[in-house]
Amino acid sequence: MSLKYVYAFAEGSRDMKDLLGGKGANLAEITNLGLPVPPGFVITTQACQAYLADGVVPPELAAEVTEHLLALEQAMGKRLGDAEDPLLVSVRSGAKFSMPGMMDTVLNIGLNDASVLGLARQAGDDRFAWDSYRRLLQMFGKTVLGVDGELFEAELDRAKKAKGTRSDLDLDAADLQAVVGVFRQIVQQETGRPFPQDPREQMDLATAAVFDSWNGERARLYRRQERIPADLGTAVNVCSMVFGNLGPTSGTGVAFTRDPSSGAPGVYGDYLVNAQGEDVVAGIRNTLPLAELEQVDAASYAQLTQIMTTLENHFRDLCDIEFTIERGHLWMLQTRVGKRTAGAAFRIATQFVDEGLIDLDEALRRVTGAQLARLMFPAFGSTDDHDDTRVELGRGMGASPGAAVGKAVFDSHTAVTWAARGEDVVLVRRETTPDDLAGMIAAQGILTSRGGKTSHAAVVARGMGKTCVCGAEDLDVDLEERTLTAPDGTVVREGDVLSIDGTSGVVYLGEVAVHPSPVVEFFEGSHPVAEDDDLVQAIARLLQHADSLRRLGVRGNADNAQDAARARRFGASGIGLCRTEHMFLGDRRQLVEDLVLAEGHDEQQAALAALLPLQREDFTGILREMDGLPVTVRLLDPPLHEFLPDLTELSVEIAVAEATGVAVDPRQSALLDAVRRLHESNPMIGLRGVRLGLVIPGLFGMQVRALAEAALALRQEGLDPRPEVMVPLVGAVQELEVVREECTAILAEVGVAALIGTMIEVPRAALTAASVAEAADFFSFGTNDLTQMSWGFSRDDVEASFFTRYLDLGIFGVSPFESLDREGVGRLVRIAVEEGRRTKPGLHLGVCGEHGGDPESVHFFHDVGLDYVSCSPFRVPVARLEAGRAALGD
Ligand code: PEP
Ligand code: MG
Repeated sequence: MSLKYVYAFAEGSRDMKDLLGGKGANLAEITNLGLPVPPGFVITTQACQAYLADGVVPPELAAEVTEHLLALEQAMGKRLGDAEDPLLVSVRSGAKFSMPGMMDTVLNIGLNDASVLGLARQAGDDRFAWDSYRRLLQMFGKTVLGVDGELFEAELDRAKKAKGTRSDLDLDAADLQAVVGVFRQIVQQETGRPFPQDPREQMDLATAAVFDSWNGERARLYRRQERIPADLGTAVNVCSMVFGNLGPTSGTGVAFTRDPSSGAPGVYGDYLVNAQGEDVVAGIRNTLPLAELEQVDAASYAQLTQIMTTLENHFRDLCDIEFTIERGHLWMLQTRVGKRTAGAAFRIATQFVDEGLIDLDEALRRVTGAQLARLMFPAFGSTDDHDDTRVELGRGMGASPGAAVGKAVFDSHTAVTWAARGEDVVLVRRETTPDDLAGMIAAQGILTSRGGKTSHAAVVARGMGKTCVCGAEDLDVDLEERTLTAPDGTVVREGDVLSIDGTSGVVYLGEVAVHPSPVVEFFEGSHPVAEDDDLVQAIARLLQHADSLRRLGVRGNADNAQDAARARRFGASGIGLCRTEHMFLGDRRQLVEDLVLAEGHDEQQAALAALLPLQREDFTGILREMDGLPVTVRLLDPPLHEFLPDLTELSVEIAVAEATGVAVDPRQSALLDAVRRLHESNPMIGLRGVRLGLVIPGLFGMQVRALAEAALALRQEGLDPRPEVMVPLVGAVQELEVVREECTAILAEVGVAALIGTMIEVPRAALTAASVAEAADFFSFGTNDLTQMSWGFSRDDVEASFFTRYLDLGIFGVSPFESLDREGVGRLVRIAVEEGRRTKPGLHLGVCGEHGGDPESVHFFHDVGLDYVSCSPFRVPVARLEAGRAALGD
C-alpha cells in the first residue's frame, strides 16, 4: 500500500510529530480538544523526504491534496481563490523540532487579480484586500520565486515616502493597489514570467518551496547548532487564513502559559492590534504586553486565558501559543510545549510536580545536563560592590539570562570575523532576522533596540542559551554609522566594550565584572538551599532524584587536592582519573632532566629517589580529600620530551654560546643530545604511556611506591585511603602483565592493597579486551585517545584545522571529541565491555575521557553498561543529572 501523505487536522494527534511535524501534530491535538483552530491539513514529512530525495513531489501527492482541499472548501463553504468569495490558505513549514523562523511560510495563498476584488467585497474593506495581496506577492516573490526581498522593501519604502509617512498603516487602498502593480512588475522582470494567478499552482509551488527551505542555509546552520538530524524533513501545514489585520477589533499575538524566562506563573506574551501573521515574531513593530489585551477585547482575553489553562492541564507543561483575533473572534494558530530558559526549565518542572500534574521522574525528563551547565556560568554581581564603577547606558527586556561582555559589533559578518580572531563581541541590531544567525552564534550576547520577549532575537537566543537583551528602545541603534546612542548622548562605537545583563535587561558601558553563579556556590557549599532561592532548590531536588535513580557512578578527574575536594563537593564518588604529568612540571622539571640524563643504575635510582617524596606528598593530599572513596592514579603518560627544553631553543642557545665563545655548560650539551635522541615525529603515538614505563626502569615503580606509602601513612592516621593504579596506553596484555608484576611486588612490600587496571584508549586494547582483562582489575576508557586513534585524527590539531569544513559538509553534526561517536568509537567500547566481562564478569568499568561529562555520551555509557563516568569537577553535577535521566530509559 502506498503511503498516506496528507492528514486533515482532525485525523492527527500530538504523538504524530515524526510524521506531521510539531506544529501539525499539535494543531491536530487541539483541534480534537475542541479549541478554535482554523480548519486545515498537513502534508507529511515523508512527502518532504521523498521530494528531497527525488527532486519532485511523490506522484500520489497531488490527488491527496485535491481530496483534502475539497473537504476544506466544503467545511469553509468557500473555494480556494474564488473570484467572488475566496478561501485563502497559509502554507507553513513545521518540522518535528521547532526551528523558529528558519524555514519558509507563505500567507494569503489564493489571492489573484480577480479574487482580491472578491475579498474586498466580502470583507467590506478594500485596503485590507490590497494589503493582503501585497503581502502575498512579497512573501511568495521572495520565498517561492527567489526574488531579492529588498526590491519589494524598497518599493514599499518609496510608496511611504511619497505619502510622507513611515507607517504601512497610512497607505490607503489606492496606494496599496499601486504597490501591487509594481510588485507584479518586479516578479515579471526578475523571474521572466508573471505572478502565477492559478491558486492551486500557488499552493503547490509554496509547498515545494517549504520543502526546499529545509535545506536552506539558515535551517542547516540552526540544525547543526541544535543537533537536529538533517534527514527528518519538514511537514507543510495548509491552513485556512484568518485575519488579524481587519481593523481595530482584530490583531495577532503570542502567549505563554508561564514566563519562559523566569518560570514564574502568570500571563505572558505580546499582542499587536491590526496586524497579521509574522509581525509579532519578526519583532518589527513594538507590541503591547498581553495583559493589556483585557482592555482591548475583554471577551477574547477571557477566552484566551481559559484556553491557556486547558492547554497546561492537557499538555502538563508550559505552552506557547500563536493566536489571531479576527473581528472579535479568537483563533488558535499554533501551540506547542514552549521553549524556556535553563532556569525556567528547572523551576517549571518542580512547579508542575507541586501542582500534582507530573511526578518527579517526568520532571527529571524535562531538564537536561546542558541546561544545568548553562546555569553554572557566572553572572554580573550586585552593584553594592565597592569598586563597582559600572555606567548604565539604558535598559531593555531581559530576554535570555546570563552576563555577556564584549566589543559592540553591528552586523553578523563582523561578529563572525571578530569572534574568529578570538575577540568577545556583543551583536547589536535594531532587530534580528534569521540572516543574523551566524553572528548570534559567534557573539557572547545579543542586544536589540526593538521587539519583545517573543521577537526573533529573544526566541533564538533562549534556544541557544545565549545572553540577550531586547527591546532597549531608548538606545538608538544606527547601523550605518555603526553607533549606539544612549539617552544621555553617550555614543558607543563599533569596538567599544559593552556589558549586557540578560536577566535584568540592563546595558552597561565598559566591562562589568562577572560573579559566580549561585548554583555553583550551592555546590561549593557556600550557598545554603535558601527558602527564597527557588532555582537552587529546584536543582537540588531534581539532582537528588537523579541520584536516587542512577545506576552509573560519577567520579571526578582531578590532579590536585583542591580539584579533588571540589569534585567531592560537587557530588563525585571518587576520582576516576588523576593525571600525574602535571606533577612533573615547574621546579620538578630539573628532576626529570636528571632522570633522563642519568647514566647507569645508581644515577637513575638517585633521580627517582628525589622525585619519590614529592609524588608521595601529591598523592597524600588527594587521598586525604577523598577519604573512603576510590582514587584512580594514572601512571605517567606523556612523552618525556614534554618535560625537557624545546629542541630548537636549546640548539640556538648552545649555538649562540659557541659562536660568542662562551663556555657551554656540559649539562646543556648532554641535555641537547638527550632531546635529540627523544625527539619524535609523531609523539602522540610514540614513546608514551605504558611504553615509557617499560623503557625507563623504575619510573612507574617509583610512582606506585609513592602512592602506596601515601596510603599507608593515611591508614596509620586512621583514615581509609582507596588507591587504584591505572596504566595508560596499553595495547597488548603482555605490556600490562610486566607492569602489573612490578606494581604488585611494590604494593605487597609496602603492605597496601590497590586495584590495578588499565585504560582502554588504543583500538587494539579494545579489540583484544578478552585477554587484556586477564591482567586488569578494571578498565577505564580513555575516549580522547580512543577517538584520536580510531579516526586517525590528531586531537591537538584537527578541531582548529579542518573540523569546520567537516561540520559544514555534514560529515558529522558535532565533533567526535565532544560527543562520543557511537557508531565507530562506541563500537570499540561495546566490544571491550562485552569481551572484558566475558573474561572477568566482575570487571569494573568506567570512562575518563572528556566524554564522561558530555550529556549525550553519558546516556551511551549507561546503555553500554559501564559502572561509572568520570569528568572534570564542574561537569560532575551535569553527569549526575544525565545519569539519572539515562536510568529513566528514554
Ligand atoms: C583519554 O585519552 O581519554 C584520557 C583520559 O587521557 P588523556 O586525555 O590524558 O590522554
Ligand atoms: Mg589518553
